[in-house]
Amino acid sequence: MAGVNADIAIVVLGPGALDTARRIQAVFSGSTVHGLAGRVQADVTFNELGEHLRDLYARNTPIVALCSAGIVIRAIAPCLTDKGAEPPVLAVAADGSAVVPLVGGLGGVNAMARKIATALGIAPAITTSGELRFGTCLLNPPEGYALANIEDGKRFVSDLLAGETTRIEGEAPWLDATDLPRNDDARLAIRVSPRASGSEGDLLIHPRSVIAWVGDAARDGIAERVRVALREHGIAAQSLAVLLAPLRDMASQPLARAARSLDVPLRFGDASSVIDATETLESHDIVLLVATKPVDASSIGRARGKLTVIGLGPGCTELMVPAAKQALAEADDILGYDTYVRMAGPFRADQRVHGTDNREEMQRARHAFELASKGRKVVVVSSGDPGVFAMAAAVLEALDHERAWTSVELAIVPGVSAALATAARAGAPLGHDFCMLSLSDNLKPWSIIETRLRHAAQADLVMAFYNPVSRARPRQLDRALEIVREYRASGTRVVLGRDIGRPGEALTTTTLEALRSDQVDMRTMVIVGSSTTRGFPRDEHGEWIYTPRWYE
Ligand code: SAH
Repeated sequence: MAGVNADIAIVVLGPGALDTARRIQAVFSGSTVHGLAGRVQADVTFNELGEHLRDLYARNTPIVALCSAGIVIRAIAPCLTDKGAEPPVLAVAADGSAVVPLVGGLGGVNAMARKIATALGIAPAITTSGELRFGTCLLNPPEGYALANIEDGKRFVSDLLAGETTRIEGEAPWLDATDLPRNDDARLAIRVSPRASGSEGDLLIHPRSVIAWVGDAARDGIAERVRVALREHGIAAQSLAVLLAPLRDMASQPLARAARSLDVPLRFGDASSVIDATETLESHDIVLLVATKPVDASSIGRARGKLTVIGLGPGCTELMVPAAKQALAEADDILGYDTYVRMAGPFRADQRVHGTDNREEMQRARHAFELASKGRKVVVVSSGDPGVFAMAAAVLEALDHERAWTSVELAIVPGVSAALATAARAGAPLGHDFCMLSLSDNLKPWSIIETRLRHAAQADLVMAFYNPVSRARPRQLDRALEIVREYRASGTRVVLGRDIGRPGEALTTTTLEALRSDQVDMRTMVIVGSSTTRGFPRDEHGEWIYTPRWYE
């Protein structure tokens, strides 16, 4: 069904269900196992079952929950009256002995139940009468086909259950092996056709078999012109499979908007490459190519490539923004420094991972554009925020030099930067004006760093130091501190965050006087307070550090 997210979530509460979950995962490519935090190691973790299920449901994600049907029903009950999403939801016994389709009939819940039952060697608990009688859900045609009207469909199924028979007009290969009461002289017909009209009482199913060629993206109102062209030729809107446009229009915003508004994929290539079209219809500069069978959009021309630069946050998945997770889930290629790419995983077998050395940033940016210009979905990963001493600027620099890459759709997804993550652990040391400085002189002369340190120190800004030391330059922090000590009192508060959000995370609060550079390495964030930054005890061990919002 259109709009249903293809990535199935298999939800488990304990390690006992993991084996069953993996067996189910094996039959749904792209599915992920979601486990309760602290109880079970899975692909994705969550903290609270009810909230997680409602969240998945709202995002139209099919749910296979390995727990009692009652728990699932109670959890999603508040979402059920909402007309927005209705993904398939199934309950499966943790030991794999039962599968119960709960809701999402139109999303194919019974078909999923059958598939799971086959994998587990059990019988599915199907309760839908039409489905039981005919061995198929007529209201849920297979991928590539769309039901014209659900209400007509329900009436049609009731008529059959009441004893009517049906003819089949057109190609409906999936109905061959079913128990439909077929009769060539029947009053009712299942009509499979891209045309919008049928006879009274028919079940009308549209194959997504029409390609709309937009030869002139510069002309206004693309979506409307496509709609009018379909209407004028009596073709149902649901038969539209794809919008096809010339390669030169890859960066066209109106085209992208039109495809979104028509809810079809947008592909680029040549109209002549569509070989199995049997009919060509034209109006309003739109050419409709009608094929005999549903069209697989991914086999036509190519997609506009997409490059997304994301920040992973400091390290743990809770601090990664959902848009970054989404980009990773959709990626064909993932590029980045080895350590970060490993942090971003695990990846599916169909995803290509290109880990490289940290210093090859421009090369990585160009490689990312090259892959994306072939039509692939590419993600470049940085730690923290991608715009803070990281890949986003390198990617834009590459684009600035090679404008041909504007054909690629580029997006930057922000992340929680190390300074922000460290500050949050310590309290609110960045509560007033602050600056972020990288102490690395790889890409700028050390003299610039010294000047900036002096000005920042004089301005009484709180300072967050990134790249405070490196193996090649162990003395840079000492020199920086010497400068800061010229302007700041010895009691100035300092926060050190090491591996924040990662295993072995450590937070230290100290003073400018007591700080020694051997407490700091390249995985540490150094926050030097201003004259107003202060601390007070939090518990026996730690203290809260904050910088008041006001200034005297
Ligand atoms: N884009 C990253 C910064 C990259 S520069 C961000 O926004 O966070 C790398 C520096 O960031 C490191 O030398 C260290 O100073 C700091 N850093 C990155 N991740 C960190 C973490 N998890 N804990 C503490 N400091 C970190």
